[in-house]
Amino acid sequence: MMGRLESAQERFFYDFRLDDIVPPDHLVRKIDAVLDLSWLHGELAPYYSHTGRPSIDPELMMRMLIIGYVFAVRAERQLCSEVQVNLAYRWFCRLGVEDAIPDHSVFSRARHERFCESEAFRLVFETVVGACLKEGLVGGESFSVDASLIKADVNPVKRVPGDAPIDWPEPEQATRAVTEYLSALDQDCPEDRPEDRPEDRPEDRPEDRPEDRKSGKRKTPPKAVSLTDPQAAWVAKRKVRPIFAYDANYLIDNKLGVIVDAEGTCANRVEENRVCVSMVERVMTRFDLKPKRLAADTAYGSSDTLKALMDRGIEPHIPVWDKSKRTDGTFSRADFSYDAERDVYTCPGGNILKTTGNAHSDNTLRYRASTRDCGPCPLKDRCCPNTPQRKIPRDINESVRDRVRALAGTPAFKRSRDERKKVEMAFAHMKRIFKLDRLRLRGLSGARDEVLLTATAQNLRKLARYVCRPPPTLKTA
Ligand code: SF4
Repeated sequence: MMGRLESAQERFFYDFRLDDIVPPDHLVRKIDAVLDLSWLHGELAPYYSHTGRPSIDPELMMRMLIIGYVFAVRAERQLCSEVQVNLAYRWFCRLGVEDAIPDHSVFSRARHERFCESEAFRLVFETVVGACLKEGLVGGESFSVDASLIKADVNPVKRVPGDAPIDWPEPEQATRAVTEYLSALDQDCPEDRPEDRPEDRPEDRPEDRPEDRKSGKRKTPPKAVSLTDPQAAWVAKRKVRPIFAYDANYLIDNKLGVIVDAEGTCANRVEENRVCVSMVERVMTRFDLKPKRLAADTAYGSSDTLKALMDRGIEPHIPVWDKSKRTDGTFSRADFSYDAERDVYTCPGGNILKTTGNAHSDNTLRYRASTRDCGPCPLKDRCCPNTPQRKIPRDINESVRDRVRALAGTPAFKRSRDERKKVEMAFAHMKRIFKLDRLRLRGLSGARDEVLLTATAQNLRKLARYVCRPPPTLKTA
C-alpha cells in the first residue's frame, strides 16, 4: 500500500537529543573528536574587557569558522544562516536547537578585532598540527614548500598606475584594507607596496635588482595599485588576463602531506623565499622538527635561501637558479674552470681571471681577465667580442650553490622531486574542495587569516580520515 507522509510540522514541542540526530560517521563528529579548543578562553581573555555586555563566545566563533572552512561556506552571512538550520553544525558549535546564532555583522567585527590581535588562528592551526604529530601523521624527515596565487577580492578595473599620485580617503572614512596599507607604508615594512609576480615577468625580477637583493625589498613602484585592496599585487602572466592576487605559502611534510606551516603573503618571489625560511624556522622551534631535506621548485633557488637551509643542516633539493648560461654562441661561465684553492678562474685560452675580493651590491665578486691577454687572444670573438676583457660574476655563496647542484640527480633528490607533487595536490584541494580560489577578506591580514584557516581545515579533514573513529553515541531508551 502506498504510504502518505503525515505532516508533523505543526507540533510545538519535540522530544529528541541533538546528539542522537547527528550520524555517528558524520565529519563533524570526527573533527570534534580530535579538536580541543578548551584553552581558547584563557588565551583570549586579555583581549576582552571585564565590564560591559558579554561578547560572542570565542569558542563558538572559532567552531563556526572551522565549519565554514571545512565545508567551504566562507561568507559570514551564509555561514550564520547555515548554522541556524543545520543540526550537525549546531551540534559541533555546542548550540542547542533554540539557541540564537550570532548576528553576522557582530560576528565579522569580533573576528577582525580580537582574533586578529591575538593570533588565535595560528594557535588553532598549531594545535591541529600538534594533534597530527601526536597521531604519527608527520614523518618530520622530508618537507616540501611552494606558493600558489589566490585572487584578491577586488575589481581589477578599479586600479591606478603604481607611479601615479593617489588621493587616499581620510583615516576615518578609509576601509580596513586601505587603513592597513597606509599604516604599513608609515611603518615602512616590507609589505608596503604590492609587486608583480616576478616569474611571470622574467625581465622584472626583484632579485635582478642589486638594491632589492641587498634590502630584500623593491624600490621601484608596482605597475598598478588596486584602490580597493592596495596590498594585493598586480600579477601579469603571459597570455592570461592580469589579476590582483596574494600568495598562499604551504610547507608540508612529505609523509602524508600534512601542512606543517602556512602563511598568506604578498605575491612576489622575494616574499616566497623569505617566508620559506621563516616557516622552516618556526616549525623547528614550535614542534622541534628538523627535516633532513626540503624540496621546492626553481623559484626557491636563490643563494640566500639555499645558504639559510644549509646553515640549518637541511639539504635543499631545489634546482639552483642559474642565469650564467649564454645563448648567443659566446662562452658561458661553465666554460671557465674555477680553482677554489687559488680562488681564480681559468679561461678556455688558458689564462687566469682574478678578483679584488670586493663584493658588489648584488652579492657577487667579479673575476677579470687581463686586457693584455684578451686583446691578442684568437678566441676573443667567442668570448668577449664587445668588451676589452672578459668578466665572470660569482655569487659570494657560489660554493653553497655548487654543493646544491651536486645533489641534483641523486636518488634522494629524485624522490623529493616526486614527493613535491603532494604540495601541488594540497593547493589543488585548497582551490577545488575548499574553494579558496578567491579570497573573501581584503588586506594582507585577511589573506593571512584565510590561508591559515583553510590549512587548518585541510589538516582537520586529513586527521579525521586517517585516525578518527566516531565516538559511541548514547542510545536513549
Ligand atoms: S678572450 Fe680573454 S678570457 Fe677569453 S679566452 Fe681569450 S684570454 Fe681568455
